[in-house]
Amino acid sequence: IVKIKDLHKSFGSNKVLNGVSLDVQKGQMVAIIGKSGSGKSTLLRCLNGLEKVDAGDIQVCGHDIHHPDKLNLRELRKQVGIVFQSYNLFPHLTVERNITLALTTIKKMSTEQAKTIAHKVLQLVGLENKKDAYPEQLSGGQAQRVAIARSLAMAPELMLFDEVTSALDPELTAEVLKVMEDLARGGMTMVLVTHEMAFARKLADVLVFMHQGQVWEIGPPDELFSHPKTAELQKFVSSDL
Ligand code: ATP
Ligand code: MG
Repeated sequence: IVKIKDLHKSFGSNKVLNGVSLDVQKGQMVAIIGKSGSGKSTLLRCLNGLEKVDAGDIQVCGHDIHHPDKLNLRELRKQVGIVFQSYNLFPHLTVERNITLALTTIKKMSTEQAKTIAHKVLQLVGLENKKDAYPEQLSGGQAQRVAIARSLAMAPELMLFDEVTSALDPELTAEVLKVMEDLARGGMTMVLVTHEMAFARKLADVLVFMHQGQVWEIGPPDELFSHPKTAELQKFVSSDL
């Protein structure tokens, strides 16, 4: 569902991605770890067409991300959901309206149809009783779950998560991770950047350690955690656990 070959991306003279190759199969959970500034978020943003690529071949859900046309980008964003650390809910809209907005505008659904879907995705994240609440009335964990629900409502083929729990305290982190675990078990294809090592170790099919804009090590999480091949990963693992 994702094929990246020799991806390069610079910001000015700063080479942020330096020849990244990575494949993601349908139904897989791929977790990306690495130091701050190693290029994790940039890689994720490239997958969604949010960042222009300098060189390399990058295919996502059948779209050529390096040479996209406008129509492709629009289609791509329907198929690929992304959730960030800050959840960016519309503060003046209820939870339900936050979710139905894109359905009625982008997907041209009727209000009734959209509400049915909103109800379904809110159930998935355990918040069906919050549909009439406004974002400011939610805890951080609840708001993040609404953001995830809003993405899911678009029925994406691929979900991208960029440190969605880093701003949350442990209890709220756990409830958001639970939602992501359910999604993974339900067969959703997902790529996530995370600091939650235990979660990545338990659930990821593939673990990617990024270093200096490259895929430094990649493989089954258990193997990478227990037998890091490089000094860089060794150092990262021992400092993080
Ligand atoms: P973190 O763990 O802190 O989130 P990261 O691995 O996600 O780090 P990126 O956000 O991908 O790292 O950033 C990699 C490098 O690219 C950094 O040096 C950053 O300063 C630079 N960078 C990222 N976005 C931009 C931008 N829009 N313009 C200029 N430089 C950028
Ligand atoms: Mg980042």
